[in-house]
Parts: sequence; structure tokens; C-alpha cells
Amino acid sequence: MFHVKHRAFDVVVIGGGHAGAEAAHAAARRGANTALVTLKATDLGVMSCNPAIGGLGKGHLVREVDAMDGIMGRAADAAGIQFRLLNRRKGPAVQGPRTQADRALYRAAVQSLTAAQPNLTVVEGEVTDLIIEGVRVCGVVVGDDELRAGAVVLTTGTFLRGVIHIGDEQRAGGRMGDKPSVRLAERIDDFGLPLGRLKTGTPPRLDGDTIDWSGLDMQPGDDDPVMFSFLSKEVQARQISCGITHTNEETHAIIRSNLDRSAMYGGHIEGVGPRYCPSIEDKIVRFADKTSHQIFLEPEGLTTSTIYPNGISTSLPVDVQEAYVRSIKGLRDVVIQQPGYAIEYDYVDPLALNAQLRLRAVEGLYLAGQINGTTGYEEAAAQGLVAGLNAAGEACDLEPVKFTRNESYIGVMIDDLITRGVSEPYRMFTSRAEFRLSLRADNADQRLTPLGLQAGCVGDTRQMQFIDKMERLRAARSTLEGMALSPTALKAAGLQVKEDGKRRNGMDLLAFPDVTFDHLLGFEPALNDILPEDRDQVAKDALYANYIRRQAQDVAVMQRDEAHEIPAGFDFLVLEGLSNELKQKLHRARPETLGQAGRVEGMTPAALTLILAKLRQQS
Ligand code: FAD
Repeated sequence: MFHVKHRAFDVVVIGGGHAGAEAAHAAARRGANTALVTLKATDLGVMSCNPAIGGLGKGHLVREVDAMDGIMGRAADAAGIQFRLLNRRKGPAVQGPRTQADRALYRAAVQSLTAAQPNLTVVEGEVTDLIIEGVRVCGVVVGDDELRAGAVVLTTGTFLRGVIHIGDEQRAGGRMGDKPSVRLAERIDDFGLPLGRLKTGTPPRLDGDTIDWSGLDMQPGDDDPVMFSFLSKEVQARQISCGITHTNEETHAIIRSNLDRSAMYGGHIEGVGPRYCPSIEDKIVRFADKTSHQIFLEPEGLTTSTIYPNGISTSLPVDVQEAYVRSIKGLRDVVIQQPGYAIEYDYVDPLALNAQLRLRAVEGLYLAGQINGTTGYEEAAAQGLVAGLNAAGEACDLEPVKFTRNESYIGVMIDDLITRGVSEPYRMFTSRAEFRLSLRADNADQRLTPLGLQAGCVGDTRQMQFIDKMERLRAARSTLEGMALSPTALKAAGLQVKEDGKRRNGMDLLAFPDVTFDHLLGFEPALNDILPEDRDQVAKDALYANYIRRQAQDVAVMQRDEAHEIPAGFDFLVLEGLSNELKQKLHRARPETLGQAGRVEGMTPAALTLILAKLRQQS
């Protein structure tokens, strides 16, 4: 760490959370001289809420960040104490890797990766102002110092005017134990950006030594752990199990009779919370007929007794938290180490951003993470990657890096944010991706590492491993494609495929759900030389090949519309034939392509035709 006065960098990143860390690494990997300014250097890699990375949709994002040589996957693998592949019984397209992480190990991994990253300087301090010249940001003010920069990435998470709520008590805070960022929030007010208020919450932390584990079900991790990084070979930390318990009618009665004392229901919170991650009081109100909710008791690490009770986040007063927690099986004598709380914070409506996550109103200023109305570490990291790569691009005169909906979940998220904005905290789901059969967690490297190589953000180790893997997969496919098996030969070996007399190659056969790689081994000795992980990969690729071929037409239509650019000054407000509401929506979203315009909420094919006609008139 350096103490700096009036230094110049290519890129300055404000905030060392998940978005900031990934943004700073991405910019530095692209060759930009980068400073990461954060309130406490020792807080780099802190997980503000649950000690877990990945899950459905989120695991896809981590794999994609990793495919671009980002750090989240490697840190999660170093810290993972329970790996589970969610939706294991469903198809590979919707399976999501998840790990519970040891908080201390995760933080240590992020900090050691940061220390090892060339071109990256960590600066400890509070950014209180942005240096603006005209409509361009030229740096930041940290205490008495000025850091000049070609581009700045703002990733202050829940800290902008953060307010913590516990019952009817309120205090200013960015998260428990940290001050909020008020001066920077006031500065951002000057830009006249569309700001809103959101809220999120966290459960009380429990002392595991005071839990009666004896009658609880325990859930171990998977026997064959699936990790995040394409570079990771084996699990590093000791693996643990989580406990499972449930709320009951007594718990619900305690909560119900104290609802008016919760910050949320007592009317103290105006921000909108995450619908998909409700507090326990929300669950009791919204699902009034349910008499029980499941709670996972997740250890926060290998060397701490702290337990994260997943499923009971709350903004009730401490005495009510104690009462309802102690009504739950196994928790009768539990000690609460830190109460649950809700936090309200400012966010910037992402309609104000372009596809590189740059504010359209301020040149050189990029925004990533919770500040853009998203929730979750993975969503934050993925945006950090996009903002960091593009901030480096702007500062160092490199090409912008574009993520598209048909190539990545990252592209889906960015496009959703900038064309639709947010009215509640945005989190990733597989259902958000229309091309999810091809956007699988298992093939993230095949989809994105080439983009990373082109952007110059992929290190030598990954590049060599990737080229080697692609060559192995090519050879495996070629062996499979060289086979020609008739239904009769297959039937003789006990395999049932369509009796149409057609000879099929190995890839075509693997597209049948009942045919496995092992079934084919007896027909072609060279298949035995293929590595187990490559067998698995080609089988997954083959399984989806037909669907993906069918999707190709939809992808082509989307690409055609994406290629149709809408000039920056295009005035949606003067378009005749559109409703005023739609004109306003388009004006706010400022789509840069016809494709983006088509995804603005409320768009119709007729409206799109009008825009196209106007564009043709103007060209
Ligand atoms: P953060 O991780 O918040 O990092 C912000 C960083 O900016 C911090 O390092 C801070 O020190 C730094 N900073 C702030 N202001 C300044 C400044 N002026 N100068 C320098 N540095 C500054 N996610 C879920 O998916 N599910 C949940 O249930 C959930 N619950 C949550 C509950 C709580 C109470 C909190 C606080 C968060 C919760 N989250 C949850 C969200 C998750 O923690 C965030 O989505 C994620 O951490 C966002 O990452 P980020 O990088 O955008 O911001």
C-alpha cells in the first residue's frame, strides 16, 4: 500500500467491494495503471452478507468472470468449505455451482491476488469528491490528495447515504461497523442523475457453540465438488456440513405480533427490497398460510463459531429477534453475536448508463455493483469486470469490450439494466437468459475466453491452458464425428436409437439423452484416450447442439437488430405515432441499437418499425 499525493493513474476505482476489486483487476490486466481507493484496505474482499458465492444464475456469472481471467472464481475456490452443484438432477444449462466460503479465507485470497497483480495500487481513504472538467471526470479527491485519472469507476455498494435499521432504531452506516459515504453522495447529486432508494437485509449471526446440533439434519457438500475457476484443480480447504432447521408456528406468532416494531412494517423504510430474498417478516406476511420455513445454519468459517442462519433476515428489534430465534429447534439457548438489520441506500437508475457501464452524462465515469440497483456479490463482480475493462479501454485508447445477450449472462444483465432500469434490487436468474441452452456454466470459457484474449485481459497461464483444452476438445469431437454407427450395430450393443436405418456419428449419438460417452467406448478405441473432463464437456456440447442449431435463427435476428445503431443524438421525443409514455421511456433508456430499443419495456413491433423508418429517413 502506498501513500500518494497528486499522482496520476490511467484508471481510479472507488470502493474495494466485489465490484471494485474485479474492476481494478480487470483494468490492471488490460495494462492500465490502476489505483483502487477504498475506505479500509483490510476490508478488500469482505462479504457484507451471506458467506457464499454462486448459485443458480449467479454461478454462471462467476464462471464468466473467471473465463475473462477475473478473480472471484479463484478466490471462491480457495475459500470454499462446501461445494454444491445446484439443480444437479436437471440439465447442465440450469445447473449452478455454489460454494459456501470461509469469510477470512475469501478475504485473504482477494487480498493476496490483489497484492500479486501488476499495475495495481491500493490506496486507503475516503473519496470525498470527483474532479470534473467540463463534462469529463479527471480524477478523485482522497483526503488532501488528488488522484488524476483518465477514467474513474465508482463502486460504493450500499454506502451512498446508507442508513441501518433495527426496529425503530436508525443509524447512518454503509454496513454494520462502517460509516456511510455522504459527501460523495452529495457530489453525485450535482450531476442530476436519476437516484432512488433500495433496501436489503441480513439475519442475526449466531454463536454455533450455543446451538444444539444433536437433533438437526446435516447437509454435506457434494462428493465430487464442482469448483468455479477453469484453473482450479482441487479443493483447498477442509469441507464442512450445514445444519438444517425450520421456523414453526410459535416463531410465526412472535413475529406476527411484533410486525409493527419491524423497521419495514413500522413504516421507517421507504426503499424497495429484493422480492426474491424476502425478510422473515415478509415471508410471514406474504405466505401467511405456511406454518414453517426452512433455515440453513451455515458456518461462516473453519476457525470461527459464527453461524449464518440463511433464510431469516430481519429488521425487527433485538429483543424480538432473540425471542423468535430461540423458538426454533436447536436454537433454544442460542446467543446472538450480531443482530440482523436492514440497510437503505441510494442507487443510480442504470438507464443513465451505456453498455460499457459509463454514465452517458459524464465522460470517463463508470458505475458498477450495488450502486446500479443490483444485489449480490456475483452481479457486482460481473459489472466490475465490464466497467474495469472499458474504463481501461477509454483511458488507454483501446477498443471497448462488448458483452452480448447471446454470448453471456453478463451481456444479459448489462442489457437488462440499461434498457429496462430497475424498480427493485436486480439479481440474476437463468430464466432471464433467452439463450440459456448455450449460455451454460460449463462452457463459459469456450464462450468468453476468446473475447478476453482479444481484449488483452487474459494471463499467460490461462491462455496456455485454454489453447490446450480447445485443441483437446477439437480432437475429441473429430474422433466422435469420424464414427458412423448403424441402428442395427447400436441395437446389438443394447442401445436404442431411432430405427430409421441412418448411420450416426458419435456427436449425433450423444445428443440422445439416453446415450452416454461410456456407451460409445466399445465402438472406437481412440475414445479411451480422451480425458474424463473432456468426455464430459463434449457430451454436454453434443446434448445441446440440436437446440442451439434451432436457436441460431433467433440469434441471427437479434444480431441484425443489434447491428442497427441508433445515433447518440436521436430524438425519441419527436417521433410521431408513439405514446408519450413510450417516448419518455425511450428517452430515458437512450437505446444505442434497434435491438436494445426492442427490449425497452412497453415496446411493440409497430413502434420499432416507426423508429426504423425514422432512422432510414435520417441516413
Ligand atoms: P460493497 O461490497 O458494498 O463494497 C463497497 C465498497 O466501497 C466498500 O469496500 C467500501 O469501503 C467502499 N467505499 C464506499 N464509499 C467509499 C468512498 N467514498 N471512498 C472509498 N471507498 C468507499 N446480496 C445478496 O445477494 N443477497 C442478500 O441477501 C444480501 N443481503 C445484504 C445485506 C446487507 C446488510 C448488505 C450490506 C448487503 C447485502 N447484500 C446481499 C449485498 C451484497 O453484499 C452486495 O450486493 C455486494 O457486496 C455489492 O458489492 P459492491 O462491490 O457493489 O459493494
